[in-house]
Amino acid sequence: MPHFRRVRIRTAFFALFLPIFPSVSYTADNLGVLGSHPQWKVLEKYQETITHDDFARLIQNVYCTHGIAPDLIAISDSSARILTNRAAQTFLTLRFAKDEASCQPVPRLWRPAKSLPPARQDKPLANLRIALDPGHLGGKWAKMEERWFQVGDTAPVKEGDLVLRVARILAPRLRGLGAKVFFVRNSAEPITLKRPDDFKELARKILIKNGVPQPREDALDPSDPAKEQTIRWQSEMLFYRYSEIRRRAVLVNTKLHPDLVLCLHFNAEGWGDPKEPTLIDHNHLHLLVSGSYLEQELELDDERFEMLRKLLSRAYDEELPLADTIGASMAKETQLPAYEYPTTQTTTKVGSSGYVYARNLLAPRLYRCPVVYCEPYVMNSRDAFARIQAGDYDGTRSINGIERKSIFREYAGSVVDGLVEYYRKARKL
Ligand SMILES: [Zn+2]
Repeated sequence: MPHFRRVRIRTAFFALFLPIFPSVSYTADNLGVLGSHPQWKVLEKYQETITHDDFARLIQNVYCTHGIAPDLIAISDSSARILTNRAAQTFLTLRFAKDEASCQPVPRLWRPAKSLPPARQDKPLANLRIALDPGHLGGKWAKMEERWFQVGDTAPVKEGDLVLRVARILAPRLRGLGAKVFFVRNSAEPITLKRPDDFKELARKILIKNGVPQPREDALDPSDPAKEQTIRWQSEMLFYRYSEIRRRAVLVNTKLHPDLVLCLHFNAEGWGDPKEPTLIDHNHLHLLVSGSYLEQELELDDERFEMLRKLLSRAYDEELPLADTIGASMAKETQLPAYEYPTTQTTTKVGSSGYVYARNLLAPRLYRCPVVYCEPYVMNSRDAFARIQAGDYDGTRSINGIERKSIFREYAGSVVDGLVEYYRKARKL
C-alpha cells in the first residue's frame, strides 16, 4: 500500500500538508512536514539542459497535471521563471536550450540504460546499480503502521515482512544477471534513529495548527474514530512515515547512488477492523512513478524544488519505459487486471501499458534517480490472502483449486523479467 490513507482520514492527510509554522520571519520557507530547505542554487546546474518543449511537456503531462498557480512557474519561449519564496518575492530563471542539439549534458549521478558500459547477452544487468526498497517496516512495527491484519488464528499479514521476503528473493536473481544490488532496508527495523516520542512536540503543534486546540495524548481505544487527532497517532506517523522515508532518501542519495530504486509493496483495499478484516474478491496491479503533484503540494517550497530537480534530472525518461515494461511483465505473469483509481484527484495515468500512474509519493520524489514503485496484489483479496498464507515454496501448489507459484516468487520473477526485457532492449544486447 502506498503511504496514504483511505477516505476515512483524508482530512488529516491533507491537513498535514499545511505549513507547520506560520512564517517566523517574512522570508521563511514554506515547507512540508519535516521538509528540508530547498537548495535552489542546485537548479543552476541545469541551465540550458532542456528545451522549452520538453520542459513544458513534462510540466503539463507528468508533474503538474492538476495545474499550478501561474506565479509559481511562468514559462516563456526562452526560460522558466520559478518562484523560490513567495513572501520574499524571489525567483530563479531557468534558461532553455535553443534546440535538442544545443542541450548541455544533464548533471546526475545515476546512469540511464543507454550510457551503461557494454554487457554480455546473458548479463543484461551488468554494472547496473539497483537499490531494493521494501516498503514500510513490518515486524513489531506493523500494527503501528496499520499494515497488519489477522484472520482468526491464521498468521498475521504484515506488508513490511512480505515485501522484505520478495526483496530477498529478488536480490540474488538480479546479482546473477550482473547487477550490483543494495538493500535500503534488510530487516524489520527502521533506518531512522528517531522514535515516536521524539515527535510529540511536533505532533502537538501540527494538531493545534490544524484546528485541534487541545490535542489528547492517546486514543480511548483502538476503534476511537478521533484517534488520528491524538498526539500518539500523529507522532507515530511522523516516525514511521516522514522520518523513516527521509532517512532512507539520505541513504539512497548519499551512500548507495543507485541507477534505479525499486520500491516494493503489496496493495490492499480497506479491510476495516484488523482483527476481523474484510476479505474481498477482486485483486489488481499497478505501478507508480513520481508526478501528478497537487496544486497545494506545489505551493510548498520544498516539494516544488524537489519536483523540479526530479524533472530536470530527466528521471522520467527512464522510469516511464521501465515501469511500462515491468508492468506488462507483471501483468502477464500474475494475470492481474490494471487497477483503476476511483478518482483522478491524486493520480494521472501515464505510459502505454495501462498499469502505470504518476503520483506524488514521498520516496519517489526524494530519491534522486529513476524510481519504480510496484503495487501488485490486494493482500486482503481472497486469492492473495490464501497465497500469502501458503508461504514461499518451490514449484507450484494447488491454491483454491488452481496450480500456483509462490506469490513471493511470482512477484520477484515478474519484476526480473521486466528488467531483463527493458535493459536488453535499451542496451541493444
Ligand atoms: Zn505499501
